[in-house]
Amino acid sequence: MGTYRIAAIPGDGIGKEVIAAGCRVLEHLAQQKNGLSIEFKTLPWGSDQYLETGEMMPNDALDTLRGFDAIFFGSAGDPRVPDHISLWKLRLAICQGLDQYANIRPTKLLPGLSSPLKNGTSETIDWFIVRENSEGEYSGAGGRVHQDLSNEVGLDVSVITRSGAERIQRFAFDIARSRPRKKLTFVTKSNAQRHAMVLWDEVFEKTSADYPDIKTDRVLVDAMAARFVTDPESIDTVIATNLHADVLSDLAAALSGSLGLAPTGNINPERENPSMFEPIHGSAFDIMGHGTANPLGSFWSASLMLDHLGEHEAATLLFRAIETVTGDGSALPRDLGGQAGTDEVTEAVCKAL
Ligand code: ATP
Repeated sequence: MGTYRIAAIPGDGIGKEVIAAGCRVLEHLAQQKNGLSIEFKTLPWGSDQYLETGEMMPNDALDTLRGFDAIFFGSAGDPRVPDHISLWKLRLAICQGLDQYANIRPTKLLPGLSSPLKNGTSETIDWFIVRENSEGEYSGAGGRVHQDLSNEVGLDVSVITRSGAERIQRFAFDIARSRPRKKLTFVTKSNAQRHAMVLWDEVFEKTSADYPDIKTDRVLVDAMAARFVTDPESIDTVIATNLHADVLSDLAAALSGSLGLAPTGNINPERENPSMFEPIHGSAFDIMGHGTANPLGSFWSASLMLDHLGEHEAATLLFRAIETVTGDGSALPRDLGGQAGTDEVTEAVCKAL
């Protein structure tokens, strides 16, 4: 039990609504639990600040964040600001600057919810996707030449390094080892991409020799997308590159009920820097200000954050409260087929706690 300093960055759109709700639930949880104390500092970074100052976050932002135990993030994205600016100058700048190279995306079908999969049950949907979060297709390497001419060229170079591949694959093996099925599915596309992806494969072959207790299989990313739908029970822990896991985890979230539910953590496994936790949905400007955003993805992310901080009992209490609310069904948000607004769902989770 301890005292934790959390940097809350609500960001844009419904990020502001779901992070406010998440802080409320965490404060309520801390009141219930002796010895747990959580202090929030809200940092007003994001597109509003960009439109005022030309910067999504201040120059010394990373130093500021290093003074916290963890970061609780909402969303970055605003129709008034180009997407590559809102993403690269805030969220990706934090993930890369704080070397949060492991992105974790647990997916479960919660009680009371139904999946669009005809064979989707709580037994078949219990997945854990590990996403490489620092290089690969989102390395930022590339450029544009002959701008605005008819022969203009744009290049995005996918970068896989031996050390980067090995550290994330070991992290995924350790997660697989901590789960009952001890199974890791390795996603690749080395049939079509002949350089970086082949290195990705070679590192996996070598690394897997150190984990004889983990069952592995190797699947091409296109086949993997189909397998989430046709054979969900064959999947447990999954490791994939930055782009592949980005796409697969949105698919996984949709198959488990809604994008509004899914949590994620951007982890610095060595704990040299704070890790960052956020719902995987974006800023959803279409529903901003309506009071209808589903805050459960934010609450589940808060539970992941508590777990990372070593507060396993508090993390479990919060997750069970989410399950109680979905199971009971009387305060389901609209994206899950109910009528409850953000405040009512938040109240219900506080009551369940
Ligand atoms: P961004 O550009 O920031 O990624 P987006 O609006 O393109 O944002 P999402 O925010 O991921 O993408 O939303 C996709 C759709 O899913 C939205 O139209 C929204 O209605 C719905 N949605 C996303 N998150 C939630 C939520 N927490 N509660 C309810 N609906 C949601």
